[in-house]
Amino acid sequence: MVVDIDVKPIASAEVDLKRPIIIAGPCSAESEEQVLETAKGVAAAGVKIFRAGIWKPRTRPNAFEGVGTEGLKWLQLVKKETGLLVSTEVANVKHVYDALKHDVDILWIGARTSANPFAVQDIADSLRGVKIPVLIKNPINPDIDLWVGAIERISNAGINQLAAIHRGFSSYDKTLYRNAPHWQIPIELRRRISDLPIITDPSHIAGRRELLYDICQKAMDLNFDGLIIETHINPDKALSDAKQQVTPPVLKELLARLILRDPEIDEQLMLTLAELRDEIDKLDDRLINVIDERMRVVEHIGNYKKENNITILQNKRWDDLLKNRLVLGDKKGLSEDFINKLFMAIHQESINKQTTIMNEE
Ligand code: PEP
Ligand code: MN
Repeated sequence: MVVDIDVKPIASAEVDLKRPIIIAGPCSAESEEQVLETAKGVAAAGVKIFRAGIWKPRTRPNAFEGVGTEGLKWLQLVKKETGLLVSTEVANVKHVYDALKHDVDILWIGARTSANPFAVQDIADSLRGVKIPVLIKNPINPDIDLWVGAIERISNAGINQLAAIHRGFSSYDKTLYRNAPHWQIPIELRRRISDLPIITDPSHIAGRRELLYDICQKAMDLNFDGLIIETHINPDKALSDAKQQVTPPVLKELLARLILRDPEIDEQLMLTLAELRDEIDKLDDRLINVIDERMRVVEHIGNYKKENNITILQNKRWDDLLKNRLVLGDKKGLSEDFINKLFMAIHQESINKQTTIMNEE
């Protein structure tokens, strides 16, 4: 289902915001000095939008919950001294009023808030008649409708400078990532709401700084529109999310290493791509035919076994078959894992077919 939402590019009279939109700054504002020094560092790295959390949604009580309204004055200083646009997270109506009173340029709605339609609606109502860009993080659970719903609520309040932030999804299983990226979800979001910029948050996906680069490159290769990267002058001493933050020089180096491929693929490239895709379609057609042929032989064998009262599965035959296919696959440079999975799937389907035959009257 495609959703009709009026989306205008995030624009600023003072700052040129071309793709990729890079937002950087600390997870949390901690002190005037930390905020200002980080801002100067990220500005030197070519960043145009500063981020800092003023109110922090922490998993458990007694953790650092942000400096509160006082920190908004530091953001005003950042604007004055560096010319950066400034952004912060708002989670309730009071946050919105305080942020607007202190000239915050861009607001974002955090993952825990996006998951709560009441909270999003309150924020939306408080923004009616206000002209400010709003970035909406995905809800912590992998529920695309909830994400779309949050965006719709803000849009219905008359906000049209909108973007989504993809920050990954919480899962019970421990994975490589702090929050599983589930890339297909933001891709589907882009299909549902055309023109909606998608900004990837590699910091909250990764949870640790070593993984940042690959996530950023992947986001760029998927033609997403920007990145929001947590940056701190002294990451190891950060009061929140220490492991995932980088220093401004590391940020600068990371951004310089990113390869930006041209999203406007020219006509010849498109043609070549179309031809190659055509070839893939034909090969897949052949693949299905070959599998169909194989299944027919399997049915023959099934009938033969039934007539002669032989069990479906002969372990030795299956062991030998798989070993042989692994050798054949290896010769073609196909990984053991892939060949294993492929033949397990084919074998399972063969067993299913023969079971059906055995059970036939
Ligand atoms: C943050 O950006 O620091 C933050 C709290 O993120 P999220 O809402 O994605 O957890
Ligand atoms: Mn954070």
